[in-house]
Amino acid sequence: MTKVPTKVPTKVPTGGAASAMNILFACSELYPLIKTGGLADVAYNLPLALHHQGHKVRIVLPAYRAVLDGLSHLKPVGQINTSIQGYDVSLLKTSLKNTELQVYLVHCPALFDRPGGPYGEFADHSWEDNAQRFGLFCRIVTLIATDRAGLAWQPDLVHCNDWHTALVPMLLRVYQSRPRSLFTIHNLAYQGLFSEADFKALKLPEVIDGVRLWDFRALEFYGQMSFMKAAIVFADAVNTVSRGYAREVLTPQFGCGLDGLLRTIGDRFHGIVNGIDTKFWDPGNDCFIETLYGASSLHRKIFNKLALQSEFHISSYGNGNSNGNNNERPLLGVVSRLTGQKGIDLILETLPRIIESGFDMVVLGSGEKSVEIELQAAAAKYRGRVGVRIGYDERIAHMIIAGADALLIPSRYEPCGLTQMYAQRYGTVPVAHGVGGLADTIIDIPPYTEDIADATGLLFWDFSSSALLEALQRLAFVYDNLLLWRQLQRAGMRENFSWEHSADQYCRLYQSLC
Ligand code: ADP
Repeated sequence: MTKVPTKVPTKVPTGGAASAMNILFACSELYPLIKTGGLADVAYNLPLALHHQGHKVRIVLPAYRAVLDGLSHLKPVGQINTSIQGYDVSLLKTSLKNTELQVYLVHCPALFDRPGGPYGEFADHSWEDNAQRFGLFCRIVTLIATDRAGLAWQPDLVHCNDWHTALVPMLLRVYQSRPRSLFTIHNLAYQGLFSEADFKALKLPEVIDGVRLWDFRALEFYGQMSFMKAAIVFADAVNTVSRGYAREVLTPQFGCGLDGLLRTIGDRFHGIVNGIDTKFWDPGNDCFIETLYGASSLHRKIFNKLALQSEFHISSYGNGNSNGNNNERPLLGVVSRLTGQKGIDLILETLPRIIESGFDMVVLGSGEKSVEIELQAAAAKYRGRVGVRIGYDERIAHMIIAGADALLIPSRYEPCGLTQMYAQRYGTVPVAHGVGGLADTIIDIPPYTEDIADATGLLFWDFSSSALLEALQRLAFVYDNLLLWRQLQRAGMRENFSWEHSADQYCRLYQSLC
């Protein structure tokens, strides 16, 4: 079982209503312009929620080719048309579709106008010049944040996200009059580690704010440069995306070598859980699914299951069960990046026994080639029982969240996770490893009892096949009793995972920093 320290990270300060602030939100991906994971969803939804609360939020991200290709009428703005680090850079402006949110795109063709994803040509590839790419991005964000980009606008606070923006809190320290900075860790495992030669090529000052940069107390991390450390050391506050993960990263097991540093920042470290886009993920209004439904019309969910079974060629005759309540075999869904973090190997290892236990499964994901190949082989082996779709597909993701009976999320670690919250909103029961944000947002059912109280899903605490199977047995026990099953589904559907609550907490944190 996961051990976490009893000393928890600082609670977000409480206080009265926040007055309107100017906020610059810096990120490396932004839904719907470019997305590889949950960060893009946060970068869209949090600024929007803050905007609705009256704050003036502007977003800045690199002008990747994929972003430029999807936009027209881009206007050059500001005065960053000089050469920086030897590259030609300018700023473009757009707004997010159907919102009033302004977005600045850092246009540097030599670094960002290339095929593929934001970080590499394909999912598990990284561009060799990523230190230069995101180093330059951080410099431009700093120019905007200190009103040196010709925009006649200065934020009160810069909200930086993940390592791609992590030099900003440090570069801001060069200026006497500077906005405050908050750095959010969406995933501590991706730290932006580069060689000392890359560090030198960035031509950063030797010392900032009295701190020597090439030092283990600053950017140096076992002989390499860590972007992430720059933010942890220099930001006015640091947070992660759930309180559970904020506790876990203080331990060697989850701290990725930074747990010691994180333990030293004490009151500057917080945990704020993400929300979800409750308009885009709404079973009562979802253009991707077969049949709309709600908590009082859960019987209609079966049409989404049938559509999903048909899409993945899963046989849908059902095998009945002891009390005849649920006549279809339970269908498990997986929507995930296919990386080591997500524990897909545990599913593959357990699959024969999952199938033997009477479950069907559909998987949507993309990522590591070896995992994609193994999943496809499993689909071939268990034709009619297991369906696999490799790729990124919003429609299929919605079909799975609506049509599966349960969503399997065996992540080794999970900073927050979004799919378990989508699933609960759709009456699809999450079955997840009890870590990080998963343990924070799922209420586990007690074993084999008909008194499931307010439970909303199932958690297993050991990362092992036997623990996963035990959770699935508990799932089957409830699934076989339609009254209990509906109670479990409805409890999940009652949960409020909207961004408003998280945005309130961010506002209070911003306010306390300014
Ligand atoms: P992470 O950010 O670690 O990938 P999250 O659960 O926080 O995990 O967010 C994943 C997001 O990406 C969710 O919105 C999920 O629906 C989406 N997603 C993941 N893989 C796919 C895929 N293959 N197709 C469509 N959406 C996907």
